[in-house]
Amino acid sequence: MDKFRYSSYAQEVIFAPGAIAQVSDAVERFGWQRLLLCTNNSMQVNRNVDLLRSALGDRLVATFDRVQPHVQDIQVDQVLGLALEHEIEAVIGLGGGSPIGMAKAVSYALEPSIPIIAIPTTYAGSEMTAVYGITHSQENPPRKVTVNDSKIVPKLVIYDPELTLDLPPEMTASTGINALAHCIEALYSVTRHPFSTAAAIQGVTYISNSLLSCYQNGKNLEARTEMLMGAHLAGLSLAFVSMGLHHGLCHVLGGTANVPHGIANSIILPHAIRFNADVTAPQLLPVAEAMGISFIGSSPQLVMEAMAQKISELIAQMNLPQRLRDAGVDLKESDLPALAQLAFQNRTVQNNPKPITEPAQIETLLRAAW
Ligand code: NAD
Repeated sequence: MDKFRYSSYAQEVIFAPGAIAQVSDAVERFGWQRLLLCTNNSMQVNRNVDLLRSALGDRLVATFDRVQPHVQDIQVDQVLGLALEHEIEAVIGLGGGSPIGMAKAVSYALEPSIPIIAIPTTYAGSEMTAVYGITHSQENPPRKVTVNDSKIVPKLVIYDPELTLDLPPEMTASTGINALAHCIEALYSVTRHPFSTAAAIQGVTYISNSLLSCYQNGKNLEARTEMLMGAHLAGLSLAFVSMGLHHGLCHVLGGTANVPHGIANSIILPHAIRFNADVTAPQLLPVAEAMGISFIGSSPQLVMEAMAQKISELIAQMNLPQRLRDAGVDLKESDLPALAQLAFQNRTVQNNPKPITEPAQIETLLRAAW
């Protein structure tokens, strides 16, 4: 690729075990006085909210602690009400991609928009991007729409691996595979460039080294730290480029069939790799290398197949579902043609490096994943 164009964003990123203690100084530097926190119950249970509350003191003027997955439009209205009532100056998302997405949705809806502080506790990567998804829950079927605007890039990102020590094994595994998928789609993105490629290759290296260890022993701070660095680079590469079939399909499965985002990623990723392999093998060879796959006597296609299998094995070792029928949601095989049709209209799917010319191609993939 000899031409490229991308936007990068002004963000302060603080990464350190124990970094949550630095939030107060950082907020002070920015001059934000009245803060609203978006989070969910698990952050109360594992006391991450207490840590943040004691770090921020009376600057934290309001908390919404019931954020549901996939940012529901009805909840955005409730949080907006809180924001207006308390005249907030900045909004914090503490938790996974859902609370961070909620913080973005609230910021976006306010005029003028307000700054966002993201404190991620999963590997989903939303903290680095100018994108959020919002689910229009009253539509039939419910539809998840993405909003892309540079004004909702979090201004301050605090990565504290200690906040991830309680991330349950299943969420560790599924959001870790989500991060791996960001790197893979960034590497073959139609808008890739040298910086996104460098971030994605290093991200894959960290993730391949540490994800299984984090799953096997969540309290391993060294592995958690390496994995969070991988997730950071994955989020960074995601922020720079457009994604493809894999992400578009996961969004449709999340918004319409309510499949949790990380689970959708685990089920679809090996299939998306196989679907794209004839076009994308040259870009994905560094991933295979980072995963220790031998190239000797192999064609790029065989290397891609070995890589898809290795990722499937990792997903199986982490006990994640590998078939759509096992995703734990009310989805029937007869729903697949309609899902394929919806996915075909999805902008991200249409950005896939291998052109998708008819919904039947997606239906075949979904049936293979069924
Ligand atoms: P999530 O935010 O929905 O969280 C899933 C579950 O994990 C929740 O029950 C939460 O309470 C729990 N959890 C999170 N951190 C925990 C911790 N440290 N300890 C214990 N429990 C914890 O899931 P997610 O996969 O992080 O995010 C998915 C959402 O983010 C989707 O809506 C997806 O579309 C969006 N997303 C957006 C981007 C972007 O660039 N905008 C990128 C990735 C994902």
